[in-house]
This record gives sequence, structure tokens and C-alpha cells, in this order.
Amino acid sequence: MSSSCDSKSPTPPHPRRPPGPNRRSALGAVFAAGACGGCFGTPSALAPQLQGSVGMPHNGVQTGAVELPRSGKGFARFRPFGTAYWGQPELVTAIREVAERTEQSFGGPALVLGDLSARWGGKIPRHNSHRSGRDVDLLWHLLSVDGTPHTAVGFVRVGPDGLATDPATGRLYRLHVERQWETVKAFLLSDDVQVQWMFCSQWVEALLIDYARARGEPDELVWRAETVMLQPADSLPHDDHIHLRISCTPKTSLTGCEGGGPYWEWLPPLPTLELTRADLQEIGQHDPLVVEANDEVVARE
Ligand SMILES: [Zn+2]
Repeated sequence: MSSSCDSKSPTPPHPRRPPGPNRRSALGAVFAAGACGGCFGTPSALAPQLQGSVGMPHNGVQTGAVELPRSGKGFARFRPFGTAYWGQPELVTAIREVAERTEQSFGGPALVLGDLSARWGGKIPRHNSHRSGRDVDLLWHLLSVDGTPHTAVGFVRVGPDGLATDPATGRLYRLHVERQWETVKAFLLSDDVQVQWMFCSQWVEALLIDYARARGEPDELVWRAETVMLQPADSLPHDDHIHLRISCTPKTSLTGCEGGGPYWEWLPPLPTLELTRADLQEIGQHDPLVVEANDEVVARE
């Protein structure tokens, strides 16, 4: 059963299509989260400030991870005995809450989850990213051809017509567009996480956005969904699952979380280091060393 998420990708996914009017403004505003690319370290006793999600999704690690249980209200792991079901606590909480909420609305089959990350992060099989506890793969919500909700049958490819054939059995399924949209929407509106990407194929995005517009969802919500849903240009098309990545936050960006994509303009601003002259003088007063006029460094008395 193939579940390769981005294993063919030598680099993190990048946008394929040119930025539209809306996307351009978001992209232009906010590459702050990636601005420090390559300057992350490794959590250790010598770097106690690094914790949680550290580094970028394609080269990071994590501490304080939580394991997603094998099953719970409205969700189940695709690989019950897999070792890559560890994520940052807020991601695991969001998965559980979204799954429970959609189960309350729709009942029926659980949301099935592919890999998250290894307990301490780093490279795992089948993926290039998924290294810093911020990534998870969501299998499709499916219907049988008669319209009955059906448990995800693995990583099956959904075509532009919304149909999917299970290669193992030859059975035909349909994307459960209504429930799939509710899942996307619930993550976007989650109080636990900030969504950075939902990598999926262009045609699945089109099906979901068409449905959202027809249903009269708020323009702002639809725009955010259009912005974060993207078919990666340099990895598999993601027509057999959605790859969800959460963004760094103002807090986690101070403890080593980095990049993985744009920091969208609707997210709370990241902290910046803007020191005034007065700040510098205040700091200087506590410096035990002073540079004399002859460039000699002496200890402050
Ligand atoms: Zn993935």
C-alpha cells in the first residue's frame, strides 16, 4: 500500500501556481517564519531554549511530543502499530477535537490518520518532511457508490470527478465532499493550531472550494482554504490524502520552530527584535565589560 507523502521530494514543497491577487498579498507579507532558515540548533543541555518543534519540517526535530492513540472518538490510525504517530501536543489535540466534532455532525466512519512524526523527530520512512512534529496525513472521507459513508480504504487516489478506485479490490468510491470540507474548515477554525498548508491535488481543492462557495461559506474562510490548499510542485500530487502542516506560532518561534512555508497574514504577528537606543543603553549598563576609548576591554567596577 503506497502512502508516500513527499518521499520523492528533495526539498520542501513550493507553490506551483503563480500567486493570485489574494495569495500574493499573503505571500508578500510573510516569509518571516522562514527568514531564519538554517539557523536552528539541536535541543540539548547547552541549548535549553530549544524545545517543542525545533527547526523546519524537512530538517527539524521535536521534544515534548505526544502520541496519537491508536483510536479515539471519531479517529483511527492507519498504522495501528506505527512508530510515527508523535506530534506537538497542539497538533494532536486539534486532530482529536476535529475528529470528534465531525463525528458528532456526521457519525459513521472515523477520520483515518497517516503518519505524523517520530517521537524525537528527524527522518522517517516515506517522507521528506514530517520531521518536526507539525505534519500529519489525513486520509479521505469516502462514500460507497450508493452514498453510504465508508471507512477510508487506504491511500486511494481521487480523480477530478471525485471518484476513487481501490486498487486492492477494484471497488469504486466517491469523495465525501461535504464531510471532507467540514474537516478542512474545522482545522482552519481550530483554536489549537494555525494551519500553514493543506497539500492536496488541484482537483480535490476545486471540488471542496466549489462546494464551500455553493454552500455560502464566508468569503474569508473560503479564501483561507484556497490559500492553504496547494498541490506541491516538487512531490507527489497528493491526490490520495491531504498533508496538513501547522504553522509556528509567536510563542514556538521563540523556542526554535522555523519555516516550512509562509506565515499567513491572518495569523497573530510573530515577535520581532526591535531595540531602541534607550533599550541598548539599558542593556549596556548591565554589561560587566566596558570598551575603553583605546579599544581596551576592562571590567566594570
Ligand atoms: Zn505528509
